[in-house]
Amino acid sequence: MVGKRVRTRFAPSPTGYLHVGGLRTALYNYLFAKKMDGVFVIRIEDTDQTRKVEGAQQNLIKTLEWAGIVADESPERGGDYGPYIQSERLDIYAKYCKQLLDDNHAYYCFATHEELEENRQLQIKQGLQPKYNRRWLPEEMGGSIPPSVIKQKLDEGVPYVIRMKVPDYVSVWFEDIIRGPIEFDSATIDDQVLMKSDGFPTYHFASVIDDHLMEFTHIIRGEEWLPSMPKHLLLYEFFGWEPPKVAHLPLLLNPDRSKLSKRQGDVAVEDYVRKGYSSDAIVNFVAMLGWNEGEGSEQEVYSLDQLIDRFSLERVVKAGAVFNVEKLNWLEKQYIKNRPTDQIIKAIKPILLSKLEQKTTLMSRDVITGDEYLAQVIELMRERVGFEHEFVTFSSYFFFEPETYDEEAVAKRWAADTNTLLREFTVILHSLEDFNAENIEARLKEFVAPKGLKAAYLIHPLRILTSGVSFGPSLYHMLEVLGKDTVLRRILNGIDKITFQA
Ligand code: GLU
Repeated sequence: MVGKRVRTRFAPSPTGYLHVGGLRTALYNYLFAKKMDGVFVIRIEDTDQTRKVEGAQQNLIKTLEWAGIVADESPERGGDYGPYIQSERLDIYAKYCKQLLDDNHAYYCFATHEELEENRQLQIKQGLQPKYNRRWLPEEMGGSIPPSVIKQKLDEGVPYVIRMKVPDYVSVWFEDIIRGPIEFDSATIDDQVLMKSDGFPTYHFASVIDDHLMEFTHIIRGEEWLPSMPKHLLLYEFFGWEPPKVAHLPLLLNPDRSKLSKRQGDVAVEDYVRKGYSSDAIVNFVAMLGWNEGEGSEQEVYSLDQLIDRFSLERVVKAGAVFNVEKLNWLEKQYIKNRPTDQIIKAIKPILLSKLEQKTTLMSRDVITGDEYLAQVIELMRERVGFEHEFVTFSSYFFFEPETYDEEAVAKRWAADTNTLLREFTVILHSLEDFNAENIEARLKEFVAPKGLKAAYLIHPLRILTSGVSFGPSLYHMLEVLGKDTVLRRILNGIDKITFQA
């Protein structure tokens, strides 16, 4: 192999849920690493102790695993393996920070919050972009603070932060894989805090140190991190390290093209999982948020393996990507349509079993939880459900007696003689030996024709009585699947409850 082996990382902060944008970042890093036969790593960026949320890290890993995104490399931790965790690497950051202090690339700053805020307000008033005013810059770095004052403050234990010194009058340049060359003027770059007063590094510092030490070849992250680039590049330069290649992914947008926000829909992957979306559809959907195969490809449904095969950073677009839930719903349906029946059975059985614990059924439990019965339900409902769980919830009449009957449909479909005709027809159904769709249909037609009626005259009432609702799959097939006993019981029970109202 020529060159270095590709290494990428997903570096979430454990501040709560996994944002769909985060999932896309993780996915693109994962796809690119797999495509290039490289290594994908997860690193937890928990250096902001104030934003840390209990359990968020475990939740992130679990949700990524659900999506099929698993790290290739994990450090050992007391016999256990897990992601890299920045809070376990504080001595490393301290060591590199000391190096920057020694090399006059960083300095102590003892400014208080009040002082910083005052300075900020003043600059805003003067129409300037707020920046640290370098009041604590030491003499030897061009400032006014003598070494003795710094030593005294340190000895007294006055709280401090450590800032990087941004060189004056330099321009910082890099070539983004997606956006091309980008240049920043150092005058716009603040003397970024590297070490906070609690001894933890800032995101910028820890992430540069780790990205270098962990030997990442490519950094792929959201566009919101683009303004951080000059600070990071300067740090690489201070250390004499070669920066990795970088790609900043396009923003995610609401359908009205504003920045994707909670107000216009769910942004947590966990919310979509809870609603019943499958990882197949979510991963496929998220992959298309900013990437397409191009070259006239009409393909929209991709498995994870196909994505690995086709993905390329060159085909990631710059323009914001609209998050369109309808597209996701469409994809979910495509997956349900094509998913092998045995897989669906496996997924819906636990849902059904838990429903059966809460609710009694008059049907045979053994029959309705059996693979054969479930396969028939799936065949009838495959094109009609939006989520896998709907095989049980949307068409619950395949498992439970209808508790109510659609009143509007009853009012529309019942005539004075409906119940009498239905009673007569149950006798015919009762005598039917082979209770299949074809026979039921034939008998119904034979029954209504001499009376000058259309089949619909009884089709609708039969559907309402046996399912409670006015829509569903082919009635005859539905009756066949429900079986003779259930169908007769439901018709006779229902007739007693429904009366014709003129
Ligand atoms: N911790 C940052 C985040 O939460 C990582 C940014 C990066 O990838 O450098 O997104």
